[in-house]
Amino acid sequence: MTTPFHPELPAGTVALIGAGPGDPGLLTVKGQSMLCAADVVIYDALANPALLEHAPDARHIFAGKRAAHHSMTQDEINALLIKEAKAGHRVVRLKGGDPFVFGRGGEEAEAMVAAGVRFVVVPGITAAIAAAAYAGIPVTHRDLNTSLTLVAGHEKEPSKQQPEAAARGELDAALADATDWSALAKLPLLCFYMGIKSLSDIAEKLIANGMNPDTPAASVQWGTTPRQKVVVATLATIAAENENQGLGSPAITYVGEVVRLREKLRWFDNRPLTGKTIVVTRTRDQASELSAKLTSLGALVMEAPTIRIEPPADPRIVRDALLRVRNEGACNLNFIVFTSANGVAKTREAMESLGLDSRIFADIQVAAVGPATADACRRHLMIRPDLVPEDFNSEATVSLLCTALSECDPRMGRVLLLRADIGRASVVDQLRAEGVEVEDVAVYETKPVESLPDGLLAALDTGTVDAVTFTSGSTARNLAALLGDVARLGNAKLVSIGPQTSAAMREVGLRVHAEAREATLDALTAAVVEAVGCT
Ligand code: SAH
Repeated sequence: MTTPFHPELPAGTVALIGAGPGDPGLLTVKGQSMLCAADVVIYDALANPALLEHAPDARHIFAGKRAAHHSMTQDEINALLIKEAKAGHRVVRLKGGDPFVFGRGGEEAEAMVAAGVRFVVVPGITAAIAAAAYAGIPVTHRDLNTSLTLVAGHEKEPSKQQPEAAARGELDAALADATDWSALAKLPLLCFYMGIKSLSDIAEKLIANGMNPDTPAASVQWGTTPRQKVVVATLATIAAENENQGLGSPAITYVGEVVRLREKLRWFDNRPLTGKTIVVTRTRDQASELSAKLTSLGALVMEAPTIRIEPPADPRIVRDALLRVRNEGACNLNFIVFTSANGVAKTREAMESLGLDSRIFADIQVAAVGPATADACRRHLMIRPDLVPEDFNSEATVSLLCTALSECDPRMGRVLLLRADIGRASVVDQLRAEGVEVEDVAVYETKPVESLPDGLLAALDTGTVDAVTFTSGSTARNLAALLGDVARLGNAKLVSIGPQTSAAMREVGLRVHAEAREATLDALTAAVVEAVGCT
């Protein structure tokens, strides 16, 4: 796989990229563009692994510490960066937050200089700034402070359980001892990285040096992510309060008057589904849209894929259909209909294997069912669909297509349907009844998966799942089959998209706690909020 030309990340270069604090949307545009060009990505525990999706063809090397896993030392990481760069690769070193803020990025850059390896630095949004913003704490306010100070808290007993231990490396105790507490005690906003375990020592030293014990303080764990947790107290009580509420690493602690503003400015962690874990059972590609809706309300979404996509049993049928499109084109075909984003992606794969490109569709109209399919047409084929019906199996779609067809050919013309093997649309019969010639081709097959992801099973078994959504009878049947025993769903609220799905759920022994008022993802989302939301 050759990587694209990238003027800022030539072969043999190392890019130290700030991954931002956790929310994958907080990566910079430049960081993303360099990730896309990478041959190899060496990432830390605090860099959100979702960002690796920007570099799907690159090698991904984990360099952080995780419980019970061998972790790389800083020297090993430096040596790896140098080796990969000298082999002529484009190397991305992806680090949580900003690479130069308590991230040992400076040391890595020094190692590159010593080895004569070219490097570039792409700053990231550091955790102190981002976690405060997502907690509703402005780090400066004209009435309250004119400075903010980033401090490395000293971890007394670095625990192997803490995934960010490697990202920060062990803080040099001597350095921590060199902290000038009497100077810090006079400053209006202190932001402590790391050190959540030694917070009581930190507070003690600040108070001993004259800081008011009633100064507002807050700790933010997993800032900017759906797991964000915030504890607000005072300098004197924050350590004990964190302990009470079970707040641990990774967290930033703020000490200063601006913390008070959270009461007024809280916006992220008070949404209706904040703190709720929702499982989205997944068939085909509707899951991502539902996940996005739930996530935007604050939920932590876990997807439970129940099917996987495979090439069609007889790939010749797809190939023949595409070759006919190329040979006969618009003379013989008026419309191509894609029913899913997967269908578009698989069509593109088939086209590539045949050496075809989007010009075979010139002058043929394209319909894409739903916005996700339309988006896939733009991304994979550079085609803007002429028609985007919401739901394939509706009469409205039939009449929409018939009108469009009669406009291009009074004799109604021909339609090529490129779809999944399951759920053959009744629209095909309706179109045929209207006199439309329909070629119906399955571009991929769907097979049930063999097991659910481990993380999901663990969440179910520990009772941390608040709700599970079902968007079709097959999602209910598949999930029940994969679980073996539906009692494993515990106290999770089960939410259905409509009466048919509910009936299928009951058939397999699932209780229906809530049902959407109409069969749309918005109504399903509203039903989830009703079932488990904190409005
Ligand atoms: N280079 C990173 C900091 C690495 S040190 C940056 O610029 O943000 C690791 C420490 O960062 C953690 O111990 C914690 O204090 C803080 N941290 C990182 N991500 C965080 C998050 N999402 N929420 C709260 N603190 C975080």
